[in-house]
Amino acid sequence: MRLKGKVAIITGAARGLGRACSIRFAEQGADLVLLDVARDLAGVSYKMGSESQLNHTAALCRQFGVAVLAEPLDVRDLLAAQKTMQRAVSRFSRIDVLVNNAGIAAPSGKIVHEIEEAEWQLMIDVDLSGAWRMTKAVGSVMIAQRCGSIINISSTAGSVGYRHFAGYVAAKHGVIGLTRASALDYAPFKVRVNALLPGSVRDDPRMEGVMLSEIARSLDVPVAEHEDTFVQAQPLNSLIEPDDVAHAAVWLASDESRQVTGGVITVDGGFTAR
Ligand code: NAD
Repeated sequence: MRLKGKVAIITGAARGLGRACSIRFAEQGADLVLLDVARDLAGVSYKMGSESQLNHTAALCRQFGVAVLAEPLDVRDLLAAQKTMQRAVSRFSRIDVLVNNAGIAAPSGKIVHEIEEAEWQLMIDVDLSGAWRMTKAVGSVMIAQRCGSIINISSTAGSVGYRHFAGYVAAKHGVIGLTRASALDYAPFKVRVNALLPGSVRDDPRMEGVMLSEIARSLDVPVAEHEDTFVQAQPLNSLIEPDDVAHAAVWLASDESRQVTGGVITVDGGFTAR
């Protein structure tokens, strides 16, 4: 029960890494505010998490006896994010952890100058500005408490480039800049901010994540071939499991990492060590 007594907000919680983090946080005793856009997004070529998937994540978490608030929220909507925070504070009286996990991998698959301005803006708006908006909504609460842990889910794409993914790569590099700058802003108030950089994560059917197959689709490569490429490219020679990322997030959320802030922590099987 490493998170007993803590309240954690997790965005993009309907499926994938967000669901994996939600379950591990619940297992460790955290009360949860689970958020997801829970509808499809114009301009994104694949399905987003749904309201029923969000409710399913919430039900899986409640099995551990924790309190769970699950609500739709688009991280592009600052006003809605602020209202959600107010509801979370009035329900739980505090917010100890924010996991900025919501993200999209498409529109992608184009050489940089062929990206349309609207496609570029959408990617930055969700994957980078979304994390900033949620930080803006929660920051003053954590400062008043004089404690908090913000965990930004970046990617190996925040550390190295990938062909035909300039918008995603730029957004995920931006998330690392946001992490470092906000870690310095918040350090005087004992609020910590760290980034996790997952490598290529297996689409575990129990988590209903789709990102690996959507990235393969963007690149017009069969999923099995794309998986094989990353099994070879990640020196530990396997795909990352959603739980590998969730365990790292639990540690960053817990007091065990109390001296860790501004950290850029890979969970990539050694991919970026080369
Ligand atoms: P996923 O597509 O399975 O899940 C993402 C969730 O975010 C979905 O439920 C979706 O509805 C939600 N979401 C998308 N846009 C949103 C918005 N505007 N507001 C609120 N919610 C929104 O993807 P995943 O693999 O679980 O990815 C989670 C995070 O991990 C993303 O930030 C992604 O970039 C990052 N990541 C994933 C991988 C991977 O291989 N899967 C690798 C590195 C980093």
